[in-house]
Amino acid sequence: MRKSVLKGINKIEIIEAPIPEIRNENDVLIRMAVVGVCGSDIHYYKTGRIGSQVVQYPFTVGHEGAGIVEAVGKAVTSVKPGDRIAVEPSVACGHCDQCKAGRPHTCRNNLFLGCPGQIEGNLAEYIVMPERQCVLLEPHQSIDDGATSEPLSIGLYAVKQAQLTGNEAMGIIGFGPIGMSVFQMARWKGIDKIFVSEKIPQRKKVAARNGAFWAGNPLQSDIVETISAIEPLLLDVVFECCGQQDALDTAIELLKPGGKLVVVGIPEFDRWSFSADLVRRKEITIVNIRRQNHCTEETLKMLADGKIDGSIMITHRFPFHKVNEAFDLVANYRNGVMKAMIDF
Ligand SMILES: [Zn+2]
Ligand SMILES: [Zn+2]
Repeated sequence: MRKSVLKGINKIEIIEAPIPEIRNENDVLIRMAVVGVCGSDIHYYKTGRIGSQVVQYPFTVGHEGAGIVEAVGKAVTSVKPGDRIAVEPSVACGHCDQCKAGRPHTCRNNLFLGCPGQIEGNLAEYIVMPERQCVLLEPHQSIDDGATSEPLSIGLYAVKQAQLTGNEAMGIIGFGPIGMSVFQMARWKGIDKIFVSEKIPQRKKVAARNGAFWAGNPLQSDIVETISAIEPLLLDVVFECCGQQDALDTAIELLKPGGKLVVVGIPEFDRWSFSADLVRRKEITIVNIRRQNHCTEETLKMLADGKIDGSIMITHRFPFHKVNEAFDLVANYRNGVMKAMIDF
């Protein structure tokens, strides 16, 4: 089979490799059909690391994917060859304190698809995953849903962790796939007043077109000033969705006293900073989001029922042999790219 590997900074290549084997009776061999390129894949591509997680080359990334079951181990009962499935990329151990506390996403022994030192990713023609990582798609459902459900489920989790009532004035700083995922879930929660700040004009347009209450570009106007004029009491909750220090600063300025800052973005640097004075005086609650917890199936159901639409985030498609072009495009934010999909 063919699989893609990172070979160095800004270097991704396709190599020949043996098809992975079913080793455990609960394993499923999956033929990948589609994989979305994620911002975190691009972090590894551009810098070789995210924080303490460092790539040992060669390494296969990719974790937003869907495919067809090719073969199953003896004990597998929930899926069979030919089934279309979403691949849930986070493999939890099931027996540590975190798993027992219902927090498999912070499992002490967590193995995440395409995460350095854990499991090779799914930008390969075939992968093997345990049965419990395979979520069946509904017959009428697009296979793309199996891939877009991954970022969308993070949006659902972030919105759940923010404990919204539906009446908030909220902000989203950064309207990439994660910002859009938060946006769609908040809209579905009934929130009408969503202010979006985004530097890329095409992305800003997507926000405006899909029902943002207000969308602006921080490179063109003073976001805090403009939003304060519309909403003098300021915002109840702001989601930082781009991993940038200036975005975090803006978010804190936009929050009203007692407001909530939800940090979803992954920064390329090691430390955030914020004004102790401002955060304390306003008594801001800071909520950090680590991927998602128990939101995949609910997200897939919402997609199947048409409550949310994953296709809005897909802007580009590439055949697998052009994976390097896809990475180059996303890494350089070219052509208004939101989400690039790799088709096998
Ligand atoms: Zn992702
Ligand atoms: Zn665990």
